[in-house]
Amino acid sequence: MTLISGSILSYSTSLPVIFLFMNASMLPLIAKAFWVQEPLFNTLGFMLLIAYLLLSGLIPRQNRLLVENIVLRIENEHQSLTDPLTELGNRRRLYLLVETLLPSSLRRKDPFSVVILDIDNFKLYDDEFGHKAGDDLLITISEILKDCSRDQDLVVRYGGEEFLLVLPSTGLDEAVILVERIRSVVKEKSPVTFSAGIATHSEGLSFDQLVEKADQCLYLAKAEGRDRYVLAD
Ligand code: GH3
Ligand code: MG
Ligand code: MG
Repeated sequence: MTLISGSILSYSTSLPVIFLFMNASMLPLIAKAFWVQEPLFNTLGFMLLIAYLLLSGLIPRQNRLLVENIVLRIENEHQSLTDPLTELGNRRRLYLLVETLLPSSLRRKDPFSVVILDIDNFKLYDDEFGHKAGDDLLITISEILKDCSRDQDLVVRYGGEEFLLVLPSTGLDEAVILVERIRSVVKEKSPVTFSAGIATHSEGLSFDQLVEKADQCLYLAKAEGRDRYVLAD
């Protein structure tokens, strides 16, 4: 019982559970030690009582520190995977997802697509309206991308005004439908346009090669006059 209680004291973050097990293991011992009319047992009971009182004060403090530590670690983890301006995922989050997505998609022969999307003439916008307005616009575009994509999609801020969408279980046709939807919402809610490259994963292609393919399509979309998307063959 004492061993189990010790383990619970060490690993549980729930104060009621900790106190339940501490009371269940220590109070009967203390009572028993005082009940026996022997000085040795009474001294033991007295020491156990002091230990019990000390632990009662110490445990909530230790518990608070433990919980604060866990929260801090979760926040750090979140921050290290998140772009601070747009709150989108960053490249680290992308590669974390890719490590699990790629093998499982290949195993299930499930297609997935990537879209690279770059705001057109964003430098002109920054120059004309200022950096703060540029930042606000990046936030607006990020929100649109989030709203238009599904829960399983990953939207990443890939560079300054460049975004990468990873779309699991999505073929080229469905990716195009998504990009069309984003295009119409961006036109409705913002003063800019974007160009995009879209590529679907095929056998033998690494993730980096897939992104490279989409990037070449983006380059073509820019060269062909912007405000459009190009599909990889
Ligand atoms: P293109 O259509 O060829 O993509 O032209 P562009 O002007 O969008 O691209 P370019 O690479 O010439 O310029 C990108 C600009 O994006 C430069 C910089 O001022 C702006 N930018 C990058 N990151 C940020 C940011 O975090 N905030 C703001 N406000 N601007 C940014
Ligand atoms: Mg641009
Ligand atoms: Mg760019």
